[in-house]
Amino acid sequence: MIKENVQKVLSELPEGVELEAAVKSRTTEEIIEAINAGVRIIGENYVQEAERAFEVIGNRARRHFIGHLQKNKIKKAVKIFDMIETIDSIEMAQQIDKVCSEENKLMQVLIEINSGTEKQKFGVLPEDTENLIIGLSSLDTVKVMGLMTMGPITGDAEGARPYFITTKRLFDSLRKANIPNVDMKYLSMGMSNSYKVAIEEGANIIRIGTKIFGERLK
Ligand SMILES: *Cc1c(COP(=O)(O)O)cnc(C)c1O
Repeated sequence: MIKENVQKVLSELPEGVELEAAVKSRTTEEIIEAINAGVRIIGENYVQEAERAFEVIGNRARRHFIGHLQKNKIKKAVKIFDMIETIDSIEMAQQIDKVCSEENKLMQVLIEINSGTEKQKFGVLPEDTENLIIGLSSLDTVKVMGLMTMGPITGDAEGARPYFITTKRLFDSLRKANIPNVDMKYLSMGMSNSYKVAIEEGANIIRIGTKIFGERLK
C-alpha cells in the first residue's frame, strides 16, 4: 500500500516539486517502505521519535523538522536534522546558531508563516516576516532557504488556497528583496488534502502523511 501510494503521488508531481513524507506516529518499517518507494525527504514533528527512526534510516533520506521546536530540544535537533522548517522567532534562530557554531554545522531553515493570521498559532505573521529574516541573515551558521506554511484547518483544498496565495506572494517579494545570505529557494506547503492546490499556487515541497501511510491511529 505505502509503495503504491508513494508512487502515485510521485507520478503526479510536476518537475521541481519534491515530496516530503510527514511521518509522525509511523513505525520505522513504514518509513523505510516509503523511502524504498522513492521518498527522499522525511518530515518529523518530534525530536525523540526522529532520533529512533534516524538510527535505522541513516542518511537514506534528507531529514526535516516540521514540528514545534521546544527550547530544550534544540541541541538534539541541530545534531540530527538537515533542515528546520518551523522557525518563527529570532530567539529560536539565535539558539540554533549557537549550537551550530559549537557543532561546526550549518543549519538550513525555513520560516513558518502564520498565513491565516490566527491567534495562538505558531509561525510569524506575513507582515513581520521580512524583518525577522533580515535579523536572521546576520547569523553565521543559520541559513534561510525559504518559507513554510500550514494555513488554517479548512477541511477542503479550496479553503486553503487563499493562504497558499498569501504565502507565495510573500515568497516572491522576499526573493526580489535579495537579502544577503538568504536563498529563497523552497516553498513548503500543502498536505494530503490540499497538495494539488498548493502545487498550483507555487509550492515546491509538499508534506504528505495520511495519503501515504493511511489514517493516523493516534
Ligand atoms: C502531519 C503533518 C503534515 C501531513 O498531514 P497529512 O494530512 O497527514 O498529510 C504536514 N505538515 C505538518 C507540519 C504536519 O504536522
